[in-house]
Amino acid sequence: MKGAKVMKISERAQAVPPSATLAVSARAKQLKAQGVDVISFGAGEPDFDTPDYIKDAAIKAMKAGKTKYTAAAGVPELRAAIAEKLKRENSLNYTAEQVIVNIGAKHSVYVAMQAVLDRGDEVILQTPYWVTYTETIKLAGAVPKIIQTDSSTGYKITPEQLKQAITEKTTMLVVNSPNNPGGFTYTPDELAKLAKVLERTTVYVLSDEIYEKLIYGDTKFVSFASLSEDAYNRTLTINGFSKTFAMTGWRMGYTAGPLEVIKAMGHLQSHMTSNPVHFAQDAAIVALGDDGSIVEKMRLEFEKRGKCMAERLNAIDGVTCNEPTGAFYCFPDVSNHYGRTISGVKIGGSMDFAKALLEHANVALVPGLPFGCDGNVRLSFACSLEQITKGLDRLEKWLSQ
Ligand code: PMP
Repeated sequence: MKGAKVMKISERAQAVPPSATLAVSARAKQLKAQGVDVISFGAGEPDFDTPDYIKDAAIKAMKAGKTKYTAAAGVPELRAAIAEKLKRENSLNYTAEQVIVNIGAKHSVYVAMQAVLDRGDEVILQTPYWVTYTETIKLAGAVPKIIQTDSSTGYKITPEQLKQAITEKTTMLVVNSPNNPGGFTYTPDELAKLAKVLERTTVYVLSDEIYEKLIYGDTKFVSFASLSEDAYNRTLTINGFSKTFAMTGWRMGYTAGPLEVIKAMGHLQSHMTSNPVHFAQDAAIVALGDDGSIVEKMRLEFEKRGKCMAERLNAIDGVTCNEPTGAFYCFPDVSNHYGRTISGVKIGGSMDFAKALLEHANVALVPGLPFGCDGNVRLSFACSLEQITKGLDRLEKWLSQ
């Protein structure tokens, strides 16, 4: 085009990198389209369908005309139902006004950070971290302060590490338990010790509890805000419907916390997106009425798969993996294989590992580097046991060359 200028892109947008994991998943798709039998451990969502009783509720709501705008923070009935859920299941006393419904928990994280962070504020984050946290912190003008963990603590931070990381600029600590990508869960006692460190500070806690229902063995889940009155006053509790009810495409998440913060989030949301989808909100109310049996069926299936995947991984030479206690990810350390040349490719780190494994053994997984842990890779067990067996047979064979 004559006279065309280079299009201006904001500094803000330029600072957001494309997902570092995208290259692997794009290549996996390309191979699949070419007819290659790729086994994918990349999924970040349940492979189950949304239960019918939830779908039926949405259809009913739509037919009843629930197709219009609602209040920006969500319909009062859903906010009340979430407050009731948090009381019943998490021992948390929030009023409906202290709850805002967001457009998925990812959006909850974004709006919460926009509501409380200013330029130069520091947010404490641990490795491995969900990639969205670092970008949403930076989009709010704040700075991620990353605490490096390793397998010696089960990838969990210690109270001493937290104490050392706090500065005058610290505004928030992000806690994600059960953890994506780590598949670990903090015990109530471990969380209580972290909460104690924060006493007499003004640090918020953003507690991302999206995987709360997916816990295994004798693992106990506890909401950070329920640990003490002090914890309650400083915590933004984030959760959603995506993982528990297999509703990833519905985009339903929520935040509960101090009234002033929730109000500020409501003001921001009213200009960003207005309300969450009207009929999806009605379906979410019905979802919360589940007696737990449907969710439990999915949890048991994930538990079986996670156990099987971790056992198989640990049986592979040079691979070590903690058995997952939550979420649906194994996060093995494969760094013993770095420095080797496998199928003609020099493996320097997790990116090379993931790329070469996909090309030469047709198994897709997610490299650990974008999560801040280059020694590891993430395998999702949101797939069938047959796929787990087949994929890990391939991984074992590829590594044994
Ligand atoms: N937090 C964590 C740790 C997640 O893994 C995800 C989904 N990948 C989310 C939040 C967001 O879930 P959603 O936006 O679908 O509610």
